Parts: sequence; C-alpha cells; structure tokens
Amino acid sequence: MSTSYTNATFPLRLVDGRRLERRYRDVLLPGGTLCDHAGRARVLPRYFYEVTSWEEARATNLSRHFTVSEFIHTDVREAPPLRVFPRYIPCATVLLAFALEQLREAVGTYVFIGANGGYCSPRHKGTGAASPHCWGTAANIYRIGDTYLDTPDTIRRFAALAHDVIPTVWTRPLGDQRALTDDHLHVDLGYVVSVPREAPGESYNLKLAGEPL
Ligand SMILES: [Zn+2]
Repeated sequence: MSTSYTNATFPLRLVDGRRLERRYRDVLLPGGTLCDHAGRARVLPRYFYEVTSWEEARATNLSRHFTVSEFIHTDVREAPPLRVFPRYIPCATVLLAFALEQLREAVGTYVFIGANGGYCSPRHKGTGAASPHCWGTAANIYRIGDTYLDTPDTIRRFAALAHDVIPTVWTRPLGDQRALTDDHLHVDLGYVVSVPREAPGESYNLKLAGEPL
C-alpha cells in the first residue's frame, strides 16, 4: 500500500498539515479555528497541496486559465516560514480557481489577482478575524483585461457579473470599514474546507464519534 497521498493526475503532493514540521503548523494552524467578526469559530483547512518552486507554481494549473502561482503572491507581511518554498495552499484553492474560471469565461479576458490577494495564512499580518483568504477560497481581483478595478463603477459592475456566474459568491461591499474595497474586488466562497479522497484522516473511532466533545 502506498504511503504517498499524491493523486496520479495532479502533480502537487497532498499533505496533512498536522504532520508538517512545527514551524509550519504554527503558522498554518491546520484544523484549528479562527474567530469571525461575529464571534463564530470557523474551522481552518487541515489538508494542503505542497508547492516546491515558482517554476512548479507557474507550470501547475488549478483550472484551465489559473495557475498556482496566481494564488501565492504574498509580501513581507506573510509569516516567514511561508515566504520561501515549499509553500502550501489549502486544497479548496482548486475550487476557487474553478469558480474564477466562470468569471474568466464571462469576461472573455484575463482576471488578475493582486499581491496578498490569494491565499494568506492565519499568521499573515493582514489577517484580522477569520478571512476566507486563510481558507484559500478568496481572491482580490484588481484588474480584468485592461480595466483596473479602482472605481466604484467598475467594482460594482464586475461584482454584479461575479454574482451572475457564481450564484453563492460573496463580494465585499464598497467602503466596508474593515477592509476598504476601493482598488479591488474581493470575492470569496466562504469557509470551504476541502478533503480530497486521498487525504489520510484519522481512523474511525466509534467511542469518540459517540461522545460529545
Ligand atoms: Zn480579500
């Protein structure tokens, strides 16, 4: 029986965040919780894909038009262990790429995600309360084709289009005081946790399952 979790059709290695070295666990908080602005505990992703280099990130597609590299541009605000390779992205980033593909198709041109606008760890300095960016399910889009999303009109127009093609998407309202949206469109799918079939997980324990935590 193989001990590798890698899916034969996808090049990135699937890792259980709880089995990574401590320095990664401390910043990815796999399976931990973050509190949202309403005081609700949101369970963080436990499983990640490992990205070993920019070359691999640029060469690996998550959907037809989006490569891994577009979701991992962060700056010095990201936690130090995650500013060098290997990098890690939550498995649900693939689902975000699929959703963005709908927008890409509707606009018929490139959709650009900004720096710190894809996956950010819970220890990224820009992370306040539970942000779906920590789930790999949020994107800050700053440009579509030749159009920069830096006016209320363009942001509203593309937000409306995003809602048309991704019915359950959430877009940050203009002028939201928590994170002023005036130079990009934030779209997210919420706190989606993806557990691929190859994920090792834990053995089923009837005793634990039957008792409340
Ligand atoms: Zn955002």
